[in-house]
Amino acid sequence: MHTETIIVGAGLAGLSLAAELQRQQRDYVLIEARERLGGRIFSKTLAAPAKASASLDSDSLDPSCFGSHCFDLGPTWFWPQVNPRMKQLVSDLGLGIFPQYQSGGMVIQSDTGFILRQNQSWTQNPRPMRINGGMQALIHALAAQLDHQRLRLACHLTQLELNADGVTAQCQQDGCEQTWQAQRVVIAVPPRVALRDISFTPALPKATQQQLQQLPTWMASRAKMVAVYSHPFWRDRQQSGLAISQCGPLAEIHDASPADGSKGALFAFFHWPAEQREAQQQTLKTQLTEQLVKLYGPQAGEPEALWIQDWAQEPLTAVASDLNEAPQHPSGGDQLMQGEPWQQRLLWAASECGGHNAGYLEGALEAAAACLAQIPEEQTLPMACSLP
Ligand SMILES: Cc1cc2nc3c(=O)[nH]c(=O)nc-3n(C[C@H](O)[C@H](O)[C@H](O)COP(=O)(O)OP(=O)(O)OC[C@H]3O[C@@H](n4cnc5c(N)ncnc54)[C@H](O)[C@@H]3O)c2cc1C
Repeated sequence: MHTETIIVGAGLAGLSLAAELQRQQRDYVLIEARERLGGRIFSKTLAAPAKASASLDSDSLDPSCFGSHCFDLGPTWFWPQVNPRMKQLVSDLGLGIFPQYQSGGMVIQSDTGFILRQNQSWTQNPRPMRINGGMQALIHALAAQLDHQRLRLACHLTQLELNADGVTAQCQQDGCEQTWQAQRVVIAVPPRVALRDISFTPALPKATQQQLQQLPTWMASRAKMVAVYSHPFWRDRQQSGLAISQCGPLAEIHDASPADGSKGALFAFFHWPAEQREAQQQTLKTQLTEQLVKLYGPQAGEPEALWIQDWAQEPLTAVASDLNEAPQHPSGGDQLMQGEPWQQRLLWAASECGGHNAGYLEGALEAAAACLAQIPEEQTLPMACSLP
């Protein structure tokens, strides 16, 4: 099968690049190893969960997730004042936004478990904004712009080989090998995951490998919890929902209710590192519910839904070295020394390869835009992509 550009990874970076190539009526395929779109953008809904599907039908887009009762287990916020690409994209896609709820007091829990309730909350500046219907709404809106024939879900890129005509890509889908020939490949996969899972022939230059290895996957070691209630009951007591704990299992808890407050929801990052979470997996829900009760009172003990997403357990996001080091922002990924022989045949688009905002959603858009700028515009080939 032939195409002009293969995009590997259907997170925000890969999808936004695909949407732009689609707009320009360019020839591309988008290959995604998971059975869903979005990568680190992942939301759950109170309705029936999305069914796994290897074809891009309405199930894999989980339309139930695009109402107001959709909750983010990956990214939640963007900051329009400092994220111009996100601001523009959200506006272009016609998505509604609302500010993170921050009115009222906050709760602080010391390392010994002592609880202090404050009348004032900590307000973040610039103020984080949320998207109506959760971050997944962004993925849904981008996916709606694509020719779905060009998407391959549950399709894992394993090998890239340079040849006289461009690049040959080997993928595994449903236990079958697929081979694609393309002029170039854009890797919109966390660099460390790509280095671990994709074999390059010829090998990437040592300097490039080292640079890629030094780009930690942002948030790969983290886990997130969402608890959903019938209404945001903490607001009735002039509490913002914000809690900071130094003992855990949860470290930082925020209001995650939909804009209209028709449900109450709290999201939290864990205080415990990946190893401890794994060791205590069986009792994790019980332990964190006990902590929620201590912080918010007995109503917090009976959520309608309670989800945990441990990104450290996701091999398509995290590699072993991501788990053993302190979370740090990737830097320098926008200045990769590609070197011979791959040069323009191989481009890197994941958020970790973004500029100032590497690691963030904005970084994914920065990296995708930088790749787009390297794809020659005049080279509009006939739509040679032959899709079964
Ligand atoms: C818990 C959490 C909270 C966060 N909070 C925020 C926030 O509030 N604001 C913010 O700006 N950022 C936040 N981030 C960061 C943000 O999620 C990322 O910057 C962004 O989603 C990265 O997008 P991406 O497309 O670069 O990579 P990804 O979303 O990781 O997408 C990469 C894709 O590649 C696929 N893939 C991997 N290997 C292969 C292969 N061999 N073949 C085919 N496909 C493959 C993966 O399945 C995945 O879908 C958060 C991240 C996490 C985990």
